[in-house]
Amino acid sequence: MADFSKTYDVLVIGGGNAALCAAISARKQGASVLVLEHAPRAFRGGNSRHTRNLRAMHTAPTSVLTESYGEDEYWEDLVRVTGGNTDETLARMTIRATAQVLPWMEACGVRFQPSLSGTLSLSRTNAFFLGGGKALLNAYYTTAERLGVEVLYDTEVVSLDLDDGLVRSVSVTSRGFPATVRAKAVVASSGGFQANIGWLKRYWGDAADNFIIRGTPYAKGRILENLLAQGVQQAGDPTQCHAVAIDARAPAFDGGIVTRLDCVPFSIVVNRDAQRFYDEGEDFWPKRYAIWGRLVAQQPGQIAYSIIDSKAAHLFMPSVFPPVTADSIAELAAKLGLDPAALERTVTDYNAAVQTGTFDTTRLDDCRTEGLTPPKTHWARTVDTAPFTAYPLRPGITFTYLGVKIDTQARVQMQDGRPAKNLFAAGEIMAGNILGRGYLAGFGMAIGTVFGRIAGKEAASYAHH
Ligand SMILES: Cc1cc2nc3c(=O)[nH]c(=O)nc-3n(C[C@H](O)[C@H](O)[C@H](O)COP(=O)(O)OP(=O)(O)OC[C@H]3O[C@@H](n4cnc5c(N)ncnc54)[C@H](O)[C@@H]3O)c2cc1C
Repeated sequence: MADFSKTYDVLVIGGGNAALCAAISARKQGASVLVLEHAPRAFRGGNSRHTRNLRAMHTAPTSVLTESYGEDEYWEDLVRVTGGNTDETLARMTIRATAQVLPWMEACGVRFQPSLSGTLSLSRTNAFFLGGGKALLNAYYTTAERLGVEVLYDTEVVSLDLDDGLVRSVSVTSRGFPATVRAKAVVASSGGFQANIGWLKRYWGDAADNFIIRGTPYAKGRILENLLAQGVQQAGDPTQCHAVAIDARAPAFDGGIVTRLDCVPFSIVVNRDAQRFYDEGEDFWPKRYAIWGRLVAQQPGQIAYSIIDSKAAHLFMPSVFPPVTADSIAELAAKLGLDPAALERTVTDYNAAVQTGTFDTTRLDDCRTEGLTPPKTHWARTVDTAPFTAYPLRPGITFTYLGVKIDTQARVQMQDGRPAKNLFAAGEIMAGNILGRGYLAGFGMAIGTVFGRIAGKEAASYAHH
């Protein structure tokens, strides 16, 4: 049971991957550590409990990763997805540090699956957690508690008393009761603000009412907002986030990974007006899945429909929800609430533009359209063979990129250019330093693990001074 009359060496805000990596690292340095998690125990672990893998650099095959994935290739992948919108020093630090994280994770009880081809074909670059993010979190909590880390659930940190770069105390609501907690150093690892629809509306307007939050409802950005209001420098673009197209029937929060749909490249995607709006075959799904949330968010009513015929029905992971099926396009449109004539016209125009090619799901093939706007540049085949199938799509927000600015020691930077004295940050709350835009599968956990470990170690070392 936490003791509010005590001054802890290190106070960790949050209960996800970054928080637990920080708590374990700080404790291994000999610090007394208190973790404050807003969620009740059953829902501990934030977005991290939904994860499956971490992207790790390696120079030779390992038990869980095939071939090699060097620093330069990892860096080039990151530059491509971010368009160079990244802090190279912090990014390269993260990449290099991933070469050491797997053994550290294993020492904390995390287990990995043998290398697998998986749905996203990531056997070379990404290590998959055996049992997923929940098993990973359970291992971390067990290790943390065995080491003597104290954990308090149902405890929301409401604000930090930040005075000239020094956190003097934090105010919390613990199981409904207000309290003040003191610590020599603090690690902010409370995630993004994606579960705060009001905040999303500042950038997206009322469209945000139609967004589905894939992960924890506890990531409301309360600490981020509190820090930015107290002279902490911000990093990252507030309008940018990781957003994928998910099944529109998913729950408003916490639906997790199973609501994602992989059918887009093998389908045509239309909006509420039954019109196509983007090249569904631009590239392989792993390289494009993170742009489709934003694309759907920009459509009227923030809804879209992926339309497939029976030739393509077995090419992707099925949805957790049943497909909408029909024997004709008009019947399908009626079931989806679309104008049947408009959808028939879109499908007819598309079919007429499809060029004969050699269909191949393993490469950027030559099946494409000609004279159509927008084009479908690969995997374009006619949609003409019943039964027809459709999945409704909505923007599924994974996490936001606006965060606090940090340095290589995970120290939070103040607006006057100085680092805060005893305040560190790790995870989504600082991911925007490195992820200016775009996303690389497995990079969220890479950032949180690397900077969680740094923040915990630095916080403990500050506390010992
Ligand atoms: C469905 C899904 C699948 C994903 N799959 C992957 C994947 O396979 N690989 C990958 O790298 N990334 C993946 N991600 C992204 C990944 O989850 C995140 O980047 C990473 O988990 C962030 O860790 P974190 O510790 O910063 O945040 P979180 O894990 O979200 O933890 C934040 C914690 O802070 C707590 N909190 C918030 N506010 C307060 C407060 N005021 N007081 C106290 N506690 C507070 C929350 O309860 C939560 O426990 C996925 C995300 C989702 C939603």
